[in-house]
Amino acid sequence: MRILIVEDEKKVAAFIRKGLEEETYAVDAAHDGEEGLLLAETNQYDLIVLDLMLPKMNGLEVLEKLRDKRNNTPILLLTAKDSVEDKVTGLNKGADDYLTKPFAFSELLARVRSLLRRGQSETQTVLQVSDLTLDLISHKVNRNGEEIELTGKEYSLLEYFMRNVGKVLTRTMIAEHVWDYNFDTFTNVIDVYVNHLRKKIDKSHEQKLLHTLRGVGYVMKES
Ligand code: CA
Repeated sequence: MRILIVEDEKKVAAFIRKGLEEETYAVDAAHDGEEGLLLAETNQYDLIVLDLMLPKMNGLEVLEKLRDKRNNTPILLLTAKDSVEDKVTGLNKGADDYLTKPFAFSELLARVRSLLRRGQSETQTVLQVSDLTLDLISHKVNRNGEEIELTGKEYSLLEYFMRNVGKVLTRTMIAEHVWDYNFDTFTNVIDVYVNHLRKKIDKSHEQKLLHTLRGVGYVMKES
Protein backbone atom coordinates (compact mmCIF):
# COMPACT_ATOMS: atom_id res chain seq x y z
CA MET A 1 0.00 0.00 0.00
CA ARG A 2 1.35 3.37 -1.01
CA ILE A 3 0.59 6.55 0.89
CA LEU A 4 1.13 10.23 0.08
CA ILE A 5 1.69 12.70 2.94
CA VAL A 6 1.10 16.39 2.16
CA GLU A 7 2.36 18.35 5.15
CA ASP A 8 4.54 21.48 5.26
CA GLU A 9 5.76 20.99 8.83
CA LYS A 10 8.76 18.84 8.03
CA LYS A 11 8.99 17.40 11.54
CA VAL A 12 5.39 16.21 11.45
CA ALA A 13 5.82 14.82 7.92
CA ALA A 14 8.99 12.98 8.94
CA PHE A 15 7.31 11.58 12.05
CA ILE A 16 4.35 10.23 10.07
CA ARG A 17 6.56 8.92 7.30
CA LYS A 18 8.88 7.04 9.63
CA GLY A 19 5.97 5.44 11.47
CA LEU A 20 4.18 4.38 8.30
CA GLU A 21 7.37 2.99 6.76
CA GLU A 22 7.91 0.93 9.88
CA GLU A 23 4.44 -0.48 9.24
CA THR A 24 5.71 -1.48 5.75
CA TYR A 25 3.79 1.16 3.78
CA ALA A 26 5.51 2.85 0.84
CA VAL A 27 5.45 6.60 1.53
CA ASP A 28 5.96 9.76 -0.53
CA ALA A 29 5.91 13.23 1.02
CA ALA A 30 5.08 16.65 -0.43
CA HIS A 31 5.67 19.88 1.50
CA ASP A 32 3.21 22.24 -0.19
CA GLY A 33 -0.21 22.01 -1.81
CA GLU A 34 0.95 22.30 -5.41
CA GLU A 35 3.54 19.56 -5.06
CA GLY A 36 0.96 17.41 -3.28
CA LEU A 37 -1.58 17.84 -6.05
CA LEU A 38 1.02 17.06 -8.71
CA LEU A 39 2.12 13.86 -6.96
CA ALA A 40 -1.49 12.80 -6.31
CA GLU A 41 -2.30 13.26 -9.99
CA THR A 42 0.76 11.45 -11.35
CA ASN A 43 0.93 8.45 -9.02
CA GLN A 44 -1.55 5.81 -7.88
CA TYR A 45 -1.88 6.20 -4.12
CA ASP A 46 -3.99 4.01 -1.88
CA LEU A 47 -4.39 6.84 0.64
CA ILE A 48 -3.53 10.54 1.00
CA VAL A 49 -2.82 12.21 4.35
CA LEU A 50 -3.54 15.87 3.68
CA ASP A 51 -2.82 18.80 5.99
CA LEU A 52 -5.23 21.73 5.62
CA MET A 53 -2.90 24.67 6.21
CA LEU A 54 -0.35 24.47 3.42
CA PRO A 55 1.74 26.99 1.46
CA LYS A 56 1.02 27.63 -2.26
CA MET A 57 -2.35 25.86 -2.23
CA ASN A 58 -4.31 24.94 0.89
CA GLY A 59 -5.54 21.45 1.66
CA LEU A 60 -9.18 22.20 0.87
CA GLU A 61 -8.23 23.38 -2.63
CA VAL A 62 -6.12 20.28 -3.19
CA LEU A 63 -9.04 18.13 -2.05
CA GLU A 64 -11.51 19.97 -4.26
CA LYS A 65 -9.28 19.71 -7.34
CA LEU A 66 -8.76 15.98 -6.84
CA ARG A 67 -12.43 15.24 -6.35
CA ASP A 68 -13.36 17.43 -9.35
CA LYS A 69 -11.13 15.21 -11.45
CA ARG A 70 -12.86 12.10 -10.09
CA ASN A 71 -9.82 11.06 -8.09
CA ASN A 72 -11.41 8.88 -5.39
CA THR A 73 -8.33 8.01 -3.37
CA PRO A 74 -9.28 7.99 0.34
CA ILE A 75 -8.18 11.24 2.00
CA LEU A 76 -7.43 11.72 5.68
CA LEU A 77 -7.33 15.41 6.64
CA LEU A 78 -5.05 16.81 9.33
CA THR A 79 -6.53 19.86 11.02
CA ALA A 80 -5.67 22.30 13.76
CA LYS A 81 -7.61 22.05 17.00
CA ASP A 82 -9.82 25.10 16.53
CA SER A 83 -10.90 24.69 12.92
CA VAL A 84 -14.25 22.92 13.31
CA GLU A 85 -15.54 24.70 10.24
CA ASP A 86 -12.68 23.40 8.10
CA LYS A 87 -13.40 19.84 9.19
CA VAL A 88 -17.02 20.11 8.16
CA THR A 89 -16.11 21.79 4.87
CA GLY A 90 -13.49 19.11 4.25
CA LEU A 91 -15.89 16.24 4.84
CA ASN A 92 -18.50 17.95 2.65
CA LYS A 93 -15.95 18.32 -0.12
CA GLY A 94 -15.23 14.59 -0.12
CA ALA A 95 -12.59 13.90 2.52
CA ASP A 96 -13.04 10.49 4.17
CA ASP A 97 -11.89 11.24 7.70
CA TYR A 98 -9.95 13.78 9.72
CA LEU A 99 -7.53 13.87 12.59
CA THR A 100 -6.91 16.83 14.90
CA LYS A 101 -3.35 17.88 15.70
CA PRO A 102 -1.56 16.98 17.85
CA PHE A 103 -2.25 13.27 17.58
CA ALA A 104 -0.61 10.04 18.69
CA PHE A 105 0.83 7.92 15.90
CA SER A 106 -1.31 4.97 17.01
CA GLU A 107 -4.42 7.06 16.34
CA LEU A 108 -3.23 7.97 12.85
CA LEU A 109 -2.39 4.34 12.15
CA ALA A 110 -5.82 3.13 13.26
CA ARG A 111 -7.49 5.59 10.87
CA VAL A 112 -5.12 4.73 8.03
CA ARG A 113 -5.91 1.03 8.44
CA SER A 114 -9.62 1.69 8.58
CA LEU A 115 -9.53 3.81 5.40
CA LEU A 116 -7.45 1.22 3.55
CA ARG A 117 -10.03 -1.41 4.44
CA ARG A 118 -12.83 0.53 2.79
CA GLY A 119 -14.19 -1.09 -0.30
CA GLN A 120 -13.42 -4.42 1.30
CA SER A 121 -15.17 -5.67 4.37
CA GLU A 122 -14.71 -2.79 6.80
CA THR A 123 -14.17 -4.98 9.77
CA GLN A 124 -11.89 -7.43 8.04
CA THR A 125 -8.48 -7.51 9.65
CA VAL A 126 -7.30 -10.84 8.23
CA LEU A 127 -6.80 -11.45 4.52
CA GLN A 128 -7.11 -15.06 3.36
CA VAL A 129 -6.35 -16.92 0.15
CA SER A 130 -6.78 -20.69 0.42
CA ASP A 131 -4.84 -21.72 3.56
CA LEU A 132 -2.68 -18.59 3.53
CA THR A 133 -3.62 -15.82 5.97
CA LEU A 134 -2.24 -12.35 6.62
CA ASP A 135 -3.19 -10.46 9.77
CA LEU A 136 -3.25 -6.73 9.03
CA ILE A 137 -2.89 -5.78 12.70
CA SER A 138 -0.24 -8.15 14.03
CA HIS A 139 1.46 -8.53 10.60
CA LYS A 140 1.58 -12.30 11.14
CA VAL A 141 1.48 -14.48 8.04
CA ASN A 142 0.48 -18.14 8.25
CA ARG A 143 0.17 -20.92 5.75
CA ASN A 144 -1.64 -24.08 6.79
CA GLY A 145 -1.21 -23.03 10.43
CA GLU A 146 2.54 -22.44 10.19
CA GLU A 147 3.91 -18.96 10.71
CA ILE A 148 6.01 -17.52 7.87
CA GLU A 149 8.67 -14.88 8.59
CA LEU A 150 8.69 -12.10 6.00
CA THR A 151 10.74 -8.92 5.64
CA GLY A 152 8.85 -5.63 5.58
CA LYS A 153 8.93 -5.39 1.78
CA GLU A 154 7.90 -9.02 1.31
CA TYR A 155 5.00 -8.39 3.65
CA SER A 156 3.76 -5.33 1.77
CA LEU A 157 4.15 -7.18 -1.52
CA LEU A 158 2.10 -10.08 -0.18
CA GLU A 159 -0.54 -7.71 1.20
CA TYR A 160 -0.88 -6.12 -2.24
CA PHE A 161 -1.26 -9.53 -3.90
CA MET A 162 -3.80 -10.71 -1.34
CA ARG A 163 -5.89 -7.56 -1.71
CA ASN A 164 -6.01 -8.20 -5.45
CA VAL A 165 -6.64 -11.94 -5.68
CA GLY A 166 -7.32 -13.10 -9.22
CA LYS A 167 -6.15 -9.82 -10.76
CA VAL A 168 -3.10 -9.73 -12.99
CA LEU A 169 -0.61 -7.28 -11.51
CA THR A 170 2.02 -5.82 -13.80
CA ARG A 171 5.45 -4.81 -12.56
CA THR A 172 4.43 -1.17 -12.97
CA MET A 173 1.37 -1.66 -10.77
CA ILE A 174 3.47 -3.44 -8.17
CA ALA A 175 6.10 -0.69 -8.26
CA GLU A 176 3.41 1.98 -7.85
CA HIS A 177 1.72 0.38 -4.87
CA VAL A 178 4.58 -1.20 -2.98
CA TRP A 179 7.52 1.12 -3.56
CA ASP A 180 7.90 4.90 -3.21
CA TYR A 181 8.88 7.30 -5.99
CA ASN A 182 12.61 6.88 -5.53
CA PHE A 183 12.24 3.38 -6.89
CA ASP A 184 13.79 2.58 -10.27
CA THR A 185 11.28 0.39 -12.12
CA PHE A 186 13.82 -0.65 -14.72
CA THR A 187 15.68 -2.85 -12.31
CA ASN A 188 14.67 -6.45 -11.70
CA VAL A 189 14.14 -5.82 -8.00
CA ILE A 190 10.45 -6.72 -8.22
CA ASP A 191 11.19 -10.14 -9.71
CA VAL A 192 13.79 -10.77 -7.03
CA TYR A 193 11.31 -9.89 -4.26
CA VAL A 194 8.52 -11.93 -5.82
CA ASN A 195 10.86 -14.93 -6.03
CA HIS A 196 11.84 -14.56 -2.36
CA LEU A 197 8.20 -14.29 -1.41
CA ARG A 198 7.23 -17.27 -3.53
CA LYS A 199 9.89 -19.42 -1.88
CA LYS A 200 8.52 -18.56 1.53
CA ILE A 201 4.81 -19.01 0.83
CA ASP A 202 4.67 -21.64 -1.94
CA LYS A 203 7.81 -23.75 -2.03
CA SER A 204 6.87 -26.42 0.48
CA HIS A 205 3.22 -26.56 -0.58
CA GLU A 206 1.66 -28.52 -3.41
CA GLN A 207 -0.90 -25.85 -4.15
CA LYS A 208 0.87 -22.82 -5.63
CA LEU A 209 -0.73 -19.43 -5.04
CA LEU A 210 1.63 -16.98 -6.73
CA HIS A 211 1.77 -17.41 -10.50
CA THR A 212 3.91 -15.77 -13.19
CA LEU A 213 2.36 -14.67 -16.46
CA ARG A 214 5.38 -14.40 -18.68
CA GLY A 215 5.79 -10.96 -20.21
CA VAL A 216 2.81 -9.60 -18.28
CA GLY A 217 3.28 -9.84 -14.55
CA TYR A 218 1.99 -11.85 -11.63
CA VAL A 219 -1.29 -13.09 -10.27
CA MET A 220 -2.26 -14.60 -6.92
CA LYS A 221 -5.00 -17.21 -7.19
CA GLU A 222 -6.03 -20.52 -5.69
CA SER A 223 -5.28 -22.64 -8.77
CA1 CA B 1 0.50 22.98 7.92
